[in-house]
Amino acid sequence: MATVLVLNSGSSSLKYQLVDPASGRSVAGGIVERIGEPTGSATHQSGESETGETVRDARVPDHGAALRLVLDLFDEAGPSLADAGITAVGHRVVHGGAVFTEPTLVDDDVVAAVRDLIPLAPLHNPAAVEGIEVARELLAHLPHVAVFDTAFFAPLPAAAATYALDREVTAEHGIRRYGFHGTSHEFVSSAVTAHPAVVANLTAEGRRPESLRQVVLHLGNGASASAVLGGRPVDTSMGFTPLEGLVMGTRPGDLDPGIVFHLIRAGLSPSDVDTLLNKRSGLLGMAGANDMREVRKLADTGDADARLALEVYLHRLRKYVGAYAAVLGGIDVLTFTAGVGENDHRIRSGVVRDLKFLGLTIDPAANEARSDEARVVSVREQAAPGSTAAALPLVMVVPTNEELAIARQAMELAEG
Ligand code: AMP
Repeated sequence: MATVLVLNSGSSSLKYQLVDPASGRSVAGGIVERIGEPTGSATHQSGESETGETVRDARVPDHGAALRLVLDLFDEAGPSLADAGITAVGHRVVHGGAVFTEPTLVDDDVVAAVRDLIPLAPLHNPAAVEGIEVARELLAHLPHVAVFDTAFFAPLPAAAATYALDREVTAEHGIRRYGFHGTSHEFVSSAVTAHPAVVANLTAEGRRPESLRQVVLHLGNGASASAVLGGRPVDTSMGFTPLEGLVMGTRPGDLDPGIVFHLIRAGLSPSDVDTLLNKRSGLLGMAGANDMREVRKLADTGDADARLALEVYLHRLRKYVGAYAAVLGGIDVLTFTAGVGENDHRIRSGVVRDLKFLGLTIDPAANEARSDEARVVSVREQAAPGSTAAALPLVMVVPTNEELAIARQAMELAEG
């Protein structure tokens, strides 16, 4: 077995998974939380320990201490990293700017360049730099690979990537639409292209995979949409920062920038507005809860704010699917992924219900069935005489797996 340790460093947390890229299996994983706070904790999951889960409460002053704690947990609860065949470390980095358009083997210059990108992602890149630095120190014998959340969207067409601002200002400040969640959109759109139902339909229609028009909705706590033509992104809803686009757990998505000036003139500081838009808006702002399950519960008991929040959430989704169908010149597959997209069948039916004019349908039984597999949830019709495949366009649910995607990319570079 050859495995990759995937690290996702947040400002106060360190998530990790030891992944076998060949089988796709997660061998062990966990999270260190409340780094830098008076009390932290680590939860480690591994098939080797009796209970499956080991929990440690300890003060974790910084990311170095967090990674040391993780390595201790591997030693104590297993599996031993050496026995598990650790071959590389993969780091999730949110912002690659215009510099990093592919996974990159980390050296000192790469660390310096990721640090230079901090002004573009002040909430995310500092932790990534810290995570990379401590991991290179503690796991110095392994190759380290940085995988960027923006990379998949680097080839966005200029028409989609450019903000209609003064060109000197955009050039001076690196302002363009970068897009985020790229690792997930790439993983899911490739899984769709390879799915037997999609392959069967393309073959039945005599079409090449390059012509496949997909819309992917990544609906988690953060949420984003992408339009993908033949595996290449042609548009995405997150822009210069992850604030733009869909309604999210705590972010509003699309917003008139005039609101920002209005609030600042009314006395809020820029950092107040930053907090409002990143942490206090979206479902949380409208309904008082950022978790879709809670918003649903509130709406089901008749809470008017939660009902409105769901309507705003769905309205935005329909708008984006319609817009992306226009950008793509039609739609062959609409795919739902991430926490809400994979689990909430009412969100899926709520989006598709009003999109019949695009040929999109939903099969209630398939949509409501629970599964961890990539699957078709639209009505199955005969695509061609003798074929049992559902006809295009399809609606699908495809579980995302960013850790596996990072592990595969890291392994490829490490072996390269
Ligand atoms: P993610 O960011 O992909 O981990 O998604 C996390 C979000 O998924 C949570 O905040 C919930 O809103 C949502 N979620 C998870 N499970 C469910 C479920 N069974 N039904 C509805 N939403 C869910």
